[in-house]
Amino acid sequence: VVLIGNVISILIAIVVGWFLAKRALVPIQVSWEKQQQFIADASHELRTPLTAILVNLERLFRHPDRTIEQESEKIMIGMQEAKRLSHLVSDLLTLARSDSNELQIMKKRFNVNEVVQTCTQVFSQMAIAKEVRLETEIEESLDMMGDEERIHQMMVILLDNALKYTNPGGSIFVSCKREGQRVAIMVKDTGIGIPKDEIPLVFDRFYRVDKMRSKSTEGTGLGLSIAKWIVEVHQGKIQVSSEEGIGTSFLVTLPMKV
Ligand code: ADP
Repeated sequence: VVLIGNVISILIAIVVGWFLAKRALVPIQVSWEKQQQFIADASHELRTPLTAILVNLERLFRHPDRTIEQESEKIMIGMQEAKRLSHLVSDLLTLARSDSNELQIMKKRFNVNEVVQTCTQVFSQMAIAKEVRLETEIEESLDMMGDEERIHQMMVILLDNALKYTNPGGSIFVSCKREGQRVAIMVKDTGIGIPKDEIPLVFDRFYRVDKMRSKSTEGTGLGLSIAKWIVEVHQGKIQVSSEEGIGTSFLVTLPMKV
């Protein structure tokens, strides 16, 4: 019953979210073709978890005599897919609102080294669990003007990717230092890397390097487009360098005063 309740609230959230996203898409400066492609890709991505939820719910209804323990696998899948759906809808809303310049960013002075440190600490437990070494070199007292929450979100995206695409035994290096009037944040991993011709595409919406390779890892292909938006809205730059089988490095530079 709880699962069905959750699913229904998520379905409602999707409909409302999608309606808002479509409204937010109207005053966009991006081309009509891009909007159409975005809607087509988004619908496709939304349909996959929705189908999985519906299939599992139908199976549950077919055997009302079975206990929760007996049906735990179907319930788990339903919950995982519902979570994925909710994540997807919130990413879509962020992008749709950023397109229409509806999203305001906060401009407040904050300690960027503390944000990097906090995020890295959260990921250090997950890195230990995956047997990935996580090292940091974070300078003290780096203040910048901007949106702390958004910079936090960007760090989560970069660290989440570094961990997802690095195999056990590998390592991740995070640094945050001052370079003149800018803060330079680097997230570098010794993971699977990105093929040379696909490097320029990773910031595109829904782009995932080699669908088969990405299938085993969770993701929507929206993370880096959101990270890029966050960096650009702070008048910063995000660069990637990568070599297949060797690793990937993302370098973000942000002005300390926007
Ligand atoms: P996803 O949700 O699939 O991770 P992103 O937009 O964050 O989506 O990234 C787009 C794609 O770029 C990923 O699917 C992956 O193929 C590739 N990628 C991103 N970060 C890394 C990394 N650190 N190492 C290897 N590949 C990466």
